[in-house]
Amino acid sequence: MFTSLSDRLTETFKGLRGKGKLSESDVNKALRDIRLALLDADVALPVVRAFIGQVRERALGAEVSQALNPAQQVVKIVNEELVGILGGETRTVRYAKTPPTVIMLAGLQGSGKTTFAGKLGYWLKEQGHTPLLVAADLQRPSAVTQLEVTGQRAGVPVFAPERGNVGGHDAVLGTGEGTRSFGDPVAVSRAGIAEARAKQYDVVIVDTAGRLAVDEDLMQQAADIRAAIQPDEVLFVIDAMIGQAAVETALAFQQGVDFTGVVLSKLDGDARGGAALSVATVTGRPIMFSSVGEQTKDLEVFHPDRMAGRILDMGDVLTLIEQAEKAFDREQADEMARKFLAEEDFTFDDFLQQMAAIKKMGSLKSMLKMMPGMQQMRAQLDALDEREFDRVEAMVRSMTPYERTHPKQIDGSRRARIARGSGVTVSEVNQLLERFREAQKMMKSLARGGGGGLPGMPGI
Ligand code: GDP
Repeated sequence: MFTSLSDRLTETFKGLRGKGKLSESDVNKALRDIRLALLDADVALPVVRAFIGQVRERALGAEVSQALNPAQQVVKIVNEELVGILGGETRTVRYAKTPPTVIMLAGLQGSGKTTFAGKLGYWLKEQGHTPLLVAADLQRPSAVTQLEVTGQRAGVPVFAPERGNVGGHDAVLGTGEGTRSFGDPVAVSRAGIAEARAKQYDVVIVDTAGRLAVDEDLMQQAADIRAAIQPDEVLFVIDAMIGQAAVETALAFQQGVDFTGVVLSKLDGDARGGAALSVATVTGRPIMFSSVGEQTKDLEVFHPDRMAGRILDMGDVLTLIEQAEKAFDREQADEMARKFLAEEDFTFDDFLQQMAAIKKMGSLKSMLKMMPGMQQMRAQLDALDEREFDRVEAMVRSMTPYERTHPKQIDGSRRARIARGSGVTVSEVNQLLERFREAQKMMKSLARGGGGGLPGMPGI
């Protein structure tokens, strides 16, 4: 995905590197290359035009940053504009105030709808929800079976019409893959939602029928279901591999059923990326998820900024950071919560542990420096003085285990010993103890029910 587009953009930026100042012709040449790269990636022409126009205006305009050289400046602008055409902000499911939240799926047959239903169910479960899948794709009997299998794999219950009650056992057994519907999808959707209410499932995912090409019957059916069940979200699933046809299909669905969000499926394939880069802009609807494989777990929340980062070949640094933070935060929060409850003191060992975590973040500095649009984060990281950390660590390590847990007992002679052991002055040890006392006080007040979250690094 995006490989060829990425390569070509990287190549274009390389051509700008080393120039002290960019002339209008430098910019124009780069823009020509970017334009061709986007068109070759199947991005819709109006989107390409608007994109290039924006980048040109900003690149030639007065937008100058002291921190960046001209080539970086262009990368930054292209990155920001890419984030823009991918939809700007990250947006996921909006839940109803009173459950169940109803999510309806729409899309062409083969777009990956049923597979996505399972993935979404699994994802919702991971988020602590209790989803129910509803099989309202009654065009093909096998679609119901497929959803049942998908649900089973995802560990999510499926509500399906009782064959024989809702529209005819015969059709299921008889005509196989015929085009004849064997039940009323509106009735099944309604019954599914009633079932969710009765059994307290908090999210209902309604899978609807798709056809091989957009047709009026299909649209009408989806529109009828929408009107009847008033879903909180209508997600339009689109196969990223369909290239230029993506825009036309998306617009047809928008007109016929309308939707609140887009799901890009098969992003793991070697699609050129045009669909992803066109659909949000053309429809004005956010891309909410991307499906990246055939397994239940292969679903990602779509982050326009990270996707832009990927396209510009800067790696998915943000995802890495988020994962590292998640792991770290959970463990530390648990540990701290235990301490608070037990009314234990915040010790120098805890102090050291927090510092190690922050130092780990510091080593990401060099990676972040390569990324455009990260100025703020960069400034914060720059403010961390690693040598200061090292000094503090040396002092703590020169303390005995008893001293670390009983800092009040660290008297004059102990202070002198710690200073000698860590190669700092006694006054630096005094300062550390003073700051530590402050941190301890803060922890205490938090433990007594002060404001919410944990402080990052007390005293530093
Ligand atoms: P539906 O007709 O819209 O319900 O589409 P299906 O869910 O049946 O998917 C059609 C085909 O695409 C199946 O063979 C799926 O295994 C495959 N598929 C669905 N999502 C993905 C995906 O994200 N990546 C890949 N590689 N294949 C997918």
